[in-house]
Amino acid sequence: MNNFEFSRATDVADAVRQIAADPGATFVAGGTNLIDLIKEGVTKPSRLIDITRLQLNRIEDTNDGGLRIGALVPNSDLAYHPEIDKRYPLLASAILAGASPQLRNMATAGGNLLQRTRCFYFYDTTTPCNKREPGSGCSAVDGLNRMHAILGASEHCIATHPSDMCVALAALEARVLAAGRNGERSIAFADFHRLPGDTPHVDTNLNKDEIITAVELPPNGFAKNYSYLKIRDRLSYAFALVSVAAGLEIENGLIRQARLALGGVAHKPWRDRRAEAQLSGAPATRESFARAATTVLREARGFDHNDFKIELARRAIVRALTQAASGTPQSQIDKRVR
Ligand SMILES: Cc1cc2nc3c(=O)[nH]c(=O)nc-3n(C[C@H](O)[C@H](O)[C@H](O)COP(=O)(O)OP(=O)(O)OC[C@H]3O[C@@H](n4cnc5c(N)ncnc54)[C@H](O)[C@@H]3O)c2cc1C
Ligand code: SF4
Repeated sequence: MNNFEFSRATDVADAVRQIAADPGATFVAGGTNLIDLIKEGVTKPSRLIDITRLQLNRIEDTNDGGLRIGALVPNSDLAYHPEIDKRYPLLASAILAGASPQLRNMATAGGNLLQRTRCFYFYDTTTPCNKREPGSGCSAVDGLNRMHAILGASEHCIATHPSDMCVALAALEARVLAAGRNGERSIAFADFHRLPGDTPHVDTNLNKDEIITAVELPPNGFAKNYSYLKIRDRLSYAFALVSVAAGLEIENGLIRQARLALGGVAHKPWRDRRAEAQLSGAPATRESFARAATTVLREARGFDHNDFKIELARRAIVRALTQAASGTPQSQIDKRVR
């Protein structure tokens, strides 16, 4: 049993004050990841700062025609919000592909961004893991790495980011709003999560004294031609082996704009702008989608048990883009099957 203190933040300024005052403190929101990590002994905070009573649970219009999602909006409320359903169905599909209804009721938008990897060794405190204990080594490189990264990994860590929601947010070009001792700032989604490099214990570019207050979506939700395709070992309640968020704008059979991001393949949601640029102006055909997949996977590398993911990702990209182009997103197909 590790003793820790518990306190409640009364407002955002108080939350920042409290986290800045204690380097060993951490925020708790829905607790669906953090409490597991504490129970497993992976993390040992000196203080839990409960932020669940902060007024960060609204979904509001922004001046530029987008939406601002408060950091404490539960994943379920977000997925079923009428504006999300209508204008950002890609995001709704991604959220509903994750976890279980009970977990989604508790999990928050901010917590989803900061959930930690599902690498088995990270949770097993008897094994070396650079993310849990910097400098101890990586058990996954030569170990069981079926779920691990094929893109952007380093010799120090080959873990993947487990979120579904974040893959859609990457494709939609969301921004993360944070408040800290130096005031508020807005972080482009692509700059929020980090690749492992030689500091795999640092997952994001959020500062230790900062709290996520909201996530902002730009106006374009690619609501007509989109798909979130999640390939996993079971049809529900399983993390992605590979997932693909695709959004297209198509005019007269030609792609005007494309968005493409992958989950389950890297230490962060993997958006590929080269493939997006290649798709822009190209006909919305299988050949164009296959070329984009080749671009995304040009530098992919497997670690033995996960070699199969490279071909799986190639096929998933082509399938998701085909579904998006034809206006039959995976979520609609799931509904028909049910
Ligand atoms: C069995 C299981 C299956 C799951 N399956 C999936 C899945 O398939 N797909 C998927 O995407 N997710 C899945 N999840 C993960 C789930 O989505 C996350 O646990 C959840 O989103 C975390 O949100 P939370 O509010 O509970 O965060 P917490 O557990 O409360 O916190 C997580 C981290 O975020 C920090 N934090 C929380 N809010 C803030 C904030 N506003 N500002 C700064 N720091 C903050 C906390 O300090 C902590 O470090 C699964 C979880 C479980 C337990
Ligand atoms: S892949 Fe990363 S999280 Fe997993 S054992 Fe290696 S260092 Fe740890």
